[in-house]
Amino acid sequence: LFIPDEPVRLEDHESALASPASSPSNIFEEGWVEGIEGAIGNTPLVLIRSLSAATGCLVLAKAEFLNAAGNSPKDRVALNMIRDAEAQGLLVPFRGDTIYEGTVGSTGISIAALARARGYKAHICMPDDQSVEKVNLLTHLGAVVERVPVQPITSPEHFVNVARRRAKEHTASAETESKGFFADQFESEANWQAHYRGTGPEIWRQTGGRIDAFVSGAGTGGTIAGNARYLKEMKKEDVKIVLADPHGSGLYNRIRHGVMYSPTEREGTRRRQQVDTLVEGIGINRVTANLESGRELIDDAVRVTDEQALKMARWLVEHDGIFAGSSTAVNCVAAVVTAMKLPKGSMVVTVLCDSGTRHLSKFYKQITEMGLEEKTDEMQSDDLLATL
Ligand code: PMP
Repeated sequence: LFIPDEPVRLEDHESALASPASSPSNIFEEGWVEGIEGAIGNTPLVLIRSLSAATGCLVLAKAEFLNAAGNSPKDRVALNMIRDAEAQGLLVPFRGDTIYEGTVGSTGISIAALARARGYKAHICMPDDQSVEKVNLLTHLGAVVERVPVQPITSPEHFVNVARRRAKEHTASAETESKGFFADQFESEANWQAHYRGTGPEIWRQTGGRIDAFVSGAGTGGTIAGNARYLKEMKKEDVKIVLADPHGSGLYNRIRHGVMYSPTEREGTRRRQQVDTLVEGIGINRVTANLESGRELIDDAVRVTDEQALKMARWLVEHDGIFAGSSTAVNCVAAVVTAMKLPKGSMVVTVLCDSGTRHLSKFYKQITEMGLEEKTDEMQSDDLLATL
């Protein structure tokens, strides 16, 4: 087995791959991409037939789970953060550098895969209430996984603060020249910019500019802010930006009523969230730099209960063969609520973030425990709409 200790560069293999006269760019046949990074972005926009029929609007969803490295929109973000760091010399491939990140899982999975592809190690700090599927996946991708008890962001033991500290410790203690790099998805501008440069323009092209509303949850806020900025720039104020918020998150009140939680209330709410929601990946109780960069562009918010999300997940399997993760189910509930408020024929776009395979042990287990498979068997559009 040949394992290169340096990145493989096409330039070095030009003579083996093509006639000497060929440049690396025309070695490529149509449909080839270079490395797994090349299979990130340009995801399909799926017309969800059942939700379109139920609402009389075109309900479309960006199939972000098809990003090839970590199977979520976080591939775009992780790649952009890594490329930015490489451009600044903060990360150097095969120097022994480690990427540290605080994440509920998706960003960690993308970082772990891309770290392998580009010559780094990954150390992922995550709260210990997240699904075991994500932990297993991270371990199989070769990341060091540090699970920390759920804490408010003000605590030094919050998963984000632990990751930041570990990166500093690495750089301070490295015997070689290797560095620790804290990716910092919550505050890094490279996050929303990945959507501003990638997802937003793709949606604009794929809808021919006809989009009327964009609906998304916020974990870091990168998706909603980056897309909002691009789409509003293209269509001025016409396109409605709607936040989909699970129960227990503070953002709904922030957007709807302008209420900011005090740190004490924030901690209290955070604790309640742990017991209140099965949804992973979205819903926060602070305004991050990423959310702030698009906060004023958010026109409305829809609060979604777990029960609504669970029923929607079941509905999507039943009617569309779409096996959605929990945040995707929340997005789809909010997309339907948004569509119902718009004139018939409007175009509403949301995001299919990740697959239900990552949520079997929590979210889908609850679907079975509630007997939803049988209950939703005969469910018609009117029944679905009545639950929203
Ligand atoms: N869905 C899932 C499954 C996620 O993990 C995340 C991010 N934590 C999101 C949605 C939200 O994306 P963003 O961070 O861009 O707000």
